[in-house]
This record gives sequence, C-alpha cells and structure tokens, in this order.
Amino acid sequence: MIISPKVRGFICINAHPQGCAANVQQQIEYIKSKGPYADGPKNVLIVGSSTGYGLASRITAVFGYGANTLGVFFEKPPTERKTASAGYYNAVALDQAANAAGLYAKSVNGDAFSTGCKEKVIEEIKANMGKIDLVVYSLASPRRQDPVSGDVYTSTLKPIGHSYTAKDLNTDTQRVGEITVEPANDEEIASTVKVMGGEDWQLWIDALVKADVLADGVKTVAYTYLGEKLTWPIYGQATIGKAKEDLDHAAGELCEQLSGLNGSAHVCVLKAVVTQASSAIPVMPLYLSILFKVMQAEGTHEGCIEQLQRLFTECLYSDNPRVDDANRFRVDELELNPDVQTKVEVIWSQVTTENLHELSDFSLYQTEFLRLFGFGVEGIDYEAETMPLVEANFL
Ligand code: NAD
Repeated sequence: MIISPKVRGFICINAHPQGCAANVQQQIEYIKSKGPYADGPKNVLIVGSSTGYGLASRITAVFGYGANTLGVFFEKPPTERKTASAGYYNAVALDQAANAAGLYAKSVNGDAFSTGCKEKVIEEIKANMGKIDLVVYSLASPRRQDPVSGDVYTSTLKPIGHSYTAKDLNTDTQRVGEITVEPANDEEIASTVKVMGGEDWQLWIDALVKADVLADGVKTVAYTYLGEKLTWPIYGQATIGKAKEDLDHAAGELCEQLSGLNGSAHVCVLKAVVTQASSAIPVMPLYLSILFKVMQAEGTHEGCIEQLQRLFTECLYSDNPRVDDANRFRVDELELNPDVQTKVEVIWSQVTTENLHELSDFSLYQTEFLRLFGFGVEGIDYEAETMPLVEANFL
C-alpha cells in the first residue's frame, strides 16, 4: 500500500515503517558522531523505550556506551491492511541495529504498569542479561490500570484552582485562537498523580530490588518538564505538575532504598520537544513553534537525541553533573535561558493567525511532528508500495 500520513487532531494514526527506521538511524548517527564516550552504562532497562525521550535514551546507551538494553513499551502491531504504531517500527529498527552491532537488545511489548510485565522483564534479565546498572523510566500514558485493585485511572491536563485562558494554535487549521481549560477537581488531580506520578517507578524498582537484579552502583532516572511562566498554568502548576512533584518525592525515597546498593535515583529536567505526549498538551504546539524560532536563531535548538546525549555526558555519567537544589539533573538550561524566555514571551503576545509563519517556526513543528511517525524523512520514497507488516521478535 501507499502509506501517507493520516493526521487526526494532535495524533497521526498511522506510521511509515521505513521512515521510522530512517529516523532511528539518524539518531544513531548523531550519537556516534559525538563519541568517544567515557565510562557509562553496560546493562540498561528502559521503560517507555519506543518513542520520544525513552527511545533517545536507549539509542544513547547502545551507540554511545555499547550497552546491552532491554526496552519496554506498549505499541500497536501491524496487520496486512493497517500500519503499526510508530514506536513498534522504531523498536524493530533499534533492536536490529543493536544486534547488528553485536549487542544484546530485546524488547517487551506490554503494559508496563502490570505486574505480569514486570515479571517477564525480570525473567529475561535473569536469563540473559546479568545485573542492571541503569533503569530509565520514561513512560507517558493517558491511563493506568492499578495492578492490585484493577481500577483504571486517567490523567488529565488541566489547571488547578481556577480556569486558564490562553492563546492556542489549532494545528489542523493553523489558526491562532484562544482556549479556556476548566480547573481539575480533586479526583482528576489524584488520578493524574496515579498515572504520571512516581508510584509505578517505585513499583519497578521494588520488583527489581526484590529479584536481586540491580548491580552495585545502579542508577535510575525519570523525566520531567518544569518550563517557565507561559507553560506553568497548564504544566508546572497544573495536574501534570502535581504528578511530577510526586516523581520528585519518589526519587528521594528511591535514593534511600538504593543506598544499600550504593545506587542513586534522579529526576531529570528535560526541555520541551515535539513528541506524541507533548503534542496532546494545550498551548504546547504554539509555545514550541515560537521556541523553535528563538532557539534556532540562538543556535541552541535541540530535539530528544541532543538532550539525551547531553544528559548522559553532562549529568548522568559526569564527575561534575549539573544538579539543582532539589537534586534534579538539569538539561533544560538553554530553554530556560532568561533571554530566550523573554523573546518567546514577546512573540507570544504578538503572534496571530496572520503572522504565525513569520513570528514562529510552525513549519519546523509540523515537520518534527510528522517525523515522529516516519513521514517527511529524507531518502524515503513515499510514493512506493510499502508493506506495513514488519517482523518483530518482541517478548
Ligand atoms: P512519548 O509519548 O514519546 O513516549 C512514551 C513511551 O511510553 C512510549 O515508549 C510508549 O510506548 C510508552 N508507554 C505508554 N504507556 C505504556 C504502558 N502502559 N506500558 C508500556 N509502555 C507504555 O513521550 P515522551 O514525551 O518521550 O515522554 C517521556 C517522559 O519524558 C515523560 O515522563 C514526560 O513527562 C517527560 N518529558 C517530556 C517532555 C516533552 O516535551 N515531550 C519534556 C520533558 C519531560
């Protein structure tokens, strides 16, 4: 079939297998071009490894440090008539590239929140990996089923305390309008914390400690976004921000729990980038389009792979990591540069439908969005007949 993008609002419901593979390969080349790397991880578990920041983490571990990796994700497989989700194709491409480089790389396609998935991962680690020295927790999910009660919780992206009205970009019509988001109630706040907070990260580490599969000196990281004034009402000080506070709390407890293994747990603050998760957040597409314009002019534009390359080399495996007073690794300093933020705020106040392309880089936003699904990637013939079925050896 001919595979062209089917965009529905903030999501694209199909993906291009070769485009996704080429995207993964470009990230691999980037990481290789930045070598050589100092000592780093050797046996890595990445939960949420198929797209966005988790995928970039895995690529950095494999092609920067020569690590064996086990990835966990929840992706839709292909059928003869329907493509897989992008993360499925990404994971196939990454497993193949790592195996071709002579490294162990396996993937589990399942619900990371479930006990069964954790058991499967531990079984595989015991059978084929040896002890894990880095656990990356990079899940972004709209819902979570509690593994004990079976109750399903849904996360929401809402302000807390009062409604929030702001400029918003409709990415389909390219119109800059206004959006009002009503405040979350207590139940919605608690549910968002349940889905995107630290509980499941702690359950993973508990299970791994109990199974005795963590190495001495093990590190674990989870990712957060802090942002600035423009995004605080919908992110930092909103439902998702509450969940991320819970992540900070979990990191403190995990540090204590891992002290017997000389281990550590850190929340890492990363910059805003285009991913499937961030494109669903109101305000973000417009903020990102403006940020891209400003950071490109400054020569500091970065995507997932550039961020992760710096996280590993400047924080996680550095003798002199950039840590804030809440013990978080920081790689968002270029985005939060006061000069950058001031420029973004000025443009924010001026941007309209008419001057969108002049004042922001919405084209780059769109390009990066489509690339998430393997579209618009150089060297791919999108007119060619393409089989959606791609063989995977996922566990
Ligand atoms: P993403 O949507 O690209 O990736 C999410 C990953 O989680 C995928 O691998 C997906 O398969 C996996 N996943 C979702 N539900 C799952 C489940 N039930 N079981 C197993 N796997 C599941 O998201 P992302 O933007 O890379 O986000 C990763 C982390 O980074 C999140 O904690 C997010 O808050 C954080 N972060 C994102 C940004 C940003 O701008 N995108 C900025 C800073 C921090």
